This record gives sequence, structure tokens and C-alpha cells, in this order.
Amino acid sequence: MKYKDLPAIKSKLQNIRAHLLGGIEKNLKTSKDEEFTQLVPDITDDATRSSSQQMLLNLGEQDREQLIQVEEALYQIENGGYGICKLCEAPIPEARLTLVPFAQYCVACLNEIEQDQKNNRSNGSDPFEAF
Ligand SMILES: [Zn+2]
Repeated sequence: MKYKDLPAIKSKLQNIRAHLLGGIEKNLKTSKDEEFTQLVPDITDDATRSSSQQMLLNLGEQDREQLIQVEEALYQIENGGYGICKLCEAPIPEARLTLVPFAQYCVACLNEIEQDQKNNRSNGSDPFEAF
């Protein structure tokens, strides 16, 4: 699948990644542990994949998940397979990718997944369960 605006989507992904990683750097800089800060290498393109693995430890769970999806999308843009729904393998519409450049599922599958998740939430820990 060829997307017209792939360069725009790609730079969006890079912005999101920079933002997520920037948040980590900020956390590190405000941390009292100076030595640990110095252990974190500068982020260059080559080092990004391995250094960000290391940084994942410092991310919140949601950010971490998003960063993984962003990294995967960037990888797929370079190596193929970007914009293919992981579940049904249908191409994801460009309009959706423009909004959510790291989307891994088409809208139909996403709805199904969300339904499944709702059905599986029987432990009552989710405050939105009433919906
Ligand atoms: Zn799908």
C-alpha cells in the first residue's frame, strides 16, 4: 500500500517519538541521580533503537506502549508492512493513519478488540465499565 503523505506521516511519527523520549529526558534531568543521567547516551538515529529500549524502563505504561507502536510503525515504513491491519491484513485508510500514524488495526478490528476487552473486564477494576 502506497500512501500519498507517507513523508508527512513519518515526520509525525518522529515528532511523537521525540516527544515521548523528550519526556523521559526531562524526568532524568530532574532526577537526583546525576550518574544515571550521564549513563543515558545522546539520541542519534543509529542509537535510537537500542537506547530507547533502555529508556522504556523509565516510561509510564501508556507512553511505553505508544513508543513501541511508534518505533514499529517507523520500522515498517522503512522495511515494508506499514499500514496493514495486524488482524485482518486489510490496508488501513490513509485518513486514519494521518490521525493516528501508529495505528496497527483498521477501525473495524479496533472496535472488535475494544469489545473483547470490555467483555473480558470482569474484575470490575475499570471505572468506565458502566459504559
Ligand atoms: Zn482489520
